Amino acid sequence: MNRILRLVPIVGLALLFPVLAHAHPGHEGHDLTWDFDGGFAHPLTGWDHLLTMIAVGLWAAQLGARARWLVPSAFVSVMALAAIFGHFFGTIPGTEQGIAASILTLGLLIATTARLPVAASVALVGVFAIFHGVAHGAEMSTTAGGFSYGAGFVAATALLHGVGLGLGFALKGQPTIARFAGGGIAAAGVVLFAA
Ligand SMILES: [Zn+2]
Repeated sequence: MNRILRLVPIVGLALLFPVLAHAHPGHEGHDLTWDFDGGFAHPLTGWDHLLTMIAVGLWAAQLGARARWLVPSAFVSVMALAAIFGHFFGTIPGTEQGIAASILTLGLLIATTARLPVAASVALVGVFAIFHGVAHGAEMSTTAGGFSYGAGFVAATALLHGVGLGLGFALKGQPTIARFAGGGIAAAGVVLFAA
């Protein structure tokens, strides 16, 4: 394995620390526009989503086989459905805690290279996706811009799953680095719980 490739996750985690300082401020007023670009930017600028979506891809790569496609697809599609639900019915209690739990759990699963059955893995990320979707569906504007925003959000999520899958493949045969990456993600989940 190329030495430079090994550094990628470490540099990536180091770059996240300045981002951590700008913790997602309770999902209020941090999106500049209610259009595709605003939706696309949100998961890239909110580190809670960023970490979760990369972690989903990373874990899926570790699981291998069908899970590589089923796990990220489950997250994206359940998140989109949950956003529609949130749009009409509002938030559900414990959304912020659910998002923090998703980061913590995925980090631990990656750190321990936990292998769950495919159906259980899909169900687990599906539950996490509900929190990420509902949180945003509820705040989506009722204008046509809300749909574009959602489409941008979904596109960025799929992209981040791809980044996570790529990282996972790069880390094949590097269990120590994968363990550190998972540990870092889990630690971020703890930070979010405390926030
Ligand atoms: Zn958000």
